[in-house]
Amino acid sequence: MRNLKVNGIVLREGEFGEGDKILTVFSDTNGIISVRARRAKRTGYRYLASVQPFAYSSFELYKGRSMYSLNSAQLIEPFFNLRNDLDVLFTAGDMARICLTMIQQEMPEPESLRLLLNCLHFLNTGKMDYKLVYDIFRLRMLTLQGFAPVISSCGICERKPEGQDLVFSVAEKSIFCSECAKSNMVDNVELDYDTLAAILYICNSKLEKVFSVSVSDNVEQLLDYISGMLVKSCLEK
Ligand SMILES: [Zn+2]
Repeated sequence: MRNLKVNGIVLREGEFGEGDKILTVFSDTNGIISVRARRAKRTGYRYLASVQPFAYSSFELYKGRSMYSLNSAQLIEPFFNLRNDLDVLFTAGDMARICLTMIQQEMPEPESLRLLLNCLHFLNTGKMDYKLVYDIFRLRMLTLQGFAPVISSCGICERKPEGQDLVFSVAEKSIFCSECAKSNMVDNVELDYDTLAAILYICNSKLEKVFSVSVSDNVEQLLDYISGMLVKSCLEK
């Protein structure tokens, strides 16, 4: 069947020829796909609202040899308020870039899409601090893509953390107890128990519960540092 209907969000838009747009869409059933929207740059284009970055729509597509073509679209959620705050907009842009680099084309990733949509919802409504939404997005995306940090026990002696302070090694993607951390590990971050508990909660709880997490500013800063370093080391591979 060459005609298909997907729900998807526009992660990126580019120009194609004289008046067309080429969209990179993260779809529910077909993963990340390239979609040509004919005449989308002309004034009065009928599906203009659906071909904007971060617009979530139901798309009717035709599958050609090298890419998909857009037949029609119905807007579901424009996430329009992302544009009201530059920090929020940049955060949404960073999340789109992480999807584009971590997720393979044409591979259905419904859980990753659900994570992205939920995070965009919280950015769009402003119901949660955008920095914490970004931490949640990165830690859970790493987990979904198989790069979850080892945080339930020490990476060497496997003792469970019991209230004591620990260190986290970005290179090893693991926590270490203070005893094991002494043996020459570089790039260690001291990890207090609150931050460890926050990472555990963010990585392991159900998606509908994760946005109820609440952390202090200090914990948020550490989450930002750790998730940023983990994403960086993951993308460098
Ligand atoms: Zn240990």
